[in-house]
Amino acid sequence: MDETERCDSPEAQTETEEDLNPYHVSRRQFEEAIPFIDEIRTYEGLADVIFTPERSVSVSLPVTMDDGRFEVFRGYRVLHDHSRGPGKGGIRYHPSVGLDEVTALATWMTWKCALLGIPFGGAKGGVACDPRIMSRSEKKRITRRFIASLGDSIGPHTDIPAPDVYTDAATMAWVYDTYDMMHPGHNNLPVVTGKPLDLGGSLGRASATAQGAVYVAQRFLDLMGIPGLIDMNGSRVAIQGFGNAGRNAAEILAKAGAQIVAVSDSRGGIAAADGLDVHGVGAHKDETGSVTGFPGAKPLESREVLEVPCDILIPAALENQITTANAGRIDAKLVVEAANGPTSPLADQILCSRGIPVLPDILANAGGVVVSYFEWVQNLDNEQWPEHEVQEKLKAKMYRATDEVVAKRISLIEQLPRYQEMWREARPDDGELPTPTLRTAAYVNAIGRVTQATILRGIWP
Ligand code: NAD
Repeated sequence: MDETERCDSPEAQTETEEDLNPYHVSRRQFEEAIPFIDEIRTYEGLADVIFTPERSVSVSLPVTMDDGRFEVFRGYRVLHDHSRGPGKGGIRYHPSVGLDEVTALATWMTWKCALLGIPFGGAKGGVACDPRIMSRSEKKRITRRFIASLGDSIGPHTDIPAPDVYTDAATMAWVYDTYDMMHPGHNNLPVVTGKPLDLGGSLGRASATAQGAVYVAQRFLDLMGIPGLIDMNGSRVAIQGFGNAGRNAAEILAKAGAQIVAVSDSRGGIAAADGLDVHGVGAHKDETGSVTGFPGAKPLESREVLEVPCDILIPAALENQITTANAGRIDAKLVVEAANGPTSPLADQILCSRGIPVLPDILANAGGVVVSYFEWVQNLDNEQWPEHEVQEKLKAKMYRATDEVVAKRISLIEQLPRYQEMWREARPDDGELPTPTLRTAAYVNAIGRVTQATILRGIWP
């Protein structure tokens, strides 16, 4: 498909002051998909039912710090939707965590689980804190206090946490232990996923987000093809973020023959035109806490990594990294969103108009929640699957969802005149519908499934 012919001109949009509040972004993305979802017009008000979060919990967390001081942190857990199954979503520790961000992330989880066809709804949690300056025991006390304060807001059949930014398998072990102490006598392993292997974790979970993104990218290239980019082997890749998602992506892609030309973390970035030694960079980060200062590499500002010329750009850090401020300078053939919400809605249109496809977060980074689902199933059955079984199942799910998104975008473009006509009739003052992107297609598939589930269940009572 010729992306350049079909998308709106960026010039008309770039002057607009962008609203980067993640919750507003998630609302806008939802609203852009709604005109293409016929089922949602079955009942007036249904779109509001589906978009509105079911439950938002905000707790204060008094914690004793190592130096004897008391400090109060704020924690959140949002259950966005459970029409297709229990809530599922990570716990993030970061200074910028707030209710709007957690709500947006919970909403994206609902669409992600629906898109991948796994029987979960969406949820997310977070604590506003800076784990980079906290000791391990402070982080442990925050985790225990947070899980205790959430009480029965989480549970193996109601809302199941997992790791996210600055939380990991060790954090999930504390989540499990705290919940298990409060609910003795049950198999509580399925209350949280992303656990260590010796505590009910699944093989393949640690690398699942990155591996899923690689499966999606490869499948997309097989289906659609991009001139000069046939597969990962020999491709040039830039990655923002060098944690669970970014570092694993770098390692998997380097193993597949890609050149990792730039990486970054919160402290800065590094580049090497003929490819970085990924294992060397990893060892350097383990030793020094950052990728910066890696011998022989060119230093970059953290965001500069996004503008490095490459075939594949993988934002794998935080929201709102590609915006109107830099979308015009992205020099990649394909963007693969390993992070949640890295591209703003206006940047999406700019990239689309420049013919740069974006594999959207709810598809590209869904490998993590897919293997979390596998972990949950294994925990319920007291089983542990071999790694090859996890990988085969993951690949099948990522390929199928990618096929469905690509097919949906083609069908939306074919039917665009019909949707435009309906739109003009319903909203004569609101201009034309934006051209459907891969993100629109993913949203249409996902929201369509949540809509069906909501209609089938009916509104209680
Ligand atoms: P992580 O904590 O393991 O790693 C985060 C990385 O981002 C670190 O290298 C950190 O230094 C870097 N970073 C933080 N702020 C940055 C900045 N301003 N600029 C550049 N780098 C910065 O977290 P993660 O689990 O890899 O999560 C990264 C993204 O992937 C998030 O958007 C998360 O929601 C998403 N994601 C993660 C999973 C998962 O299973 N862990 C699943 C789906 C999506």
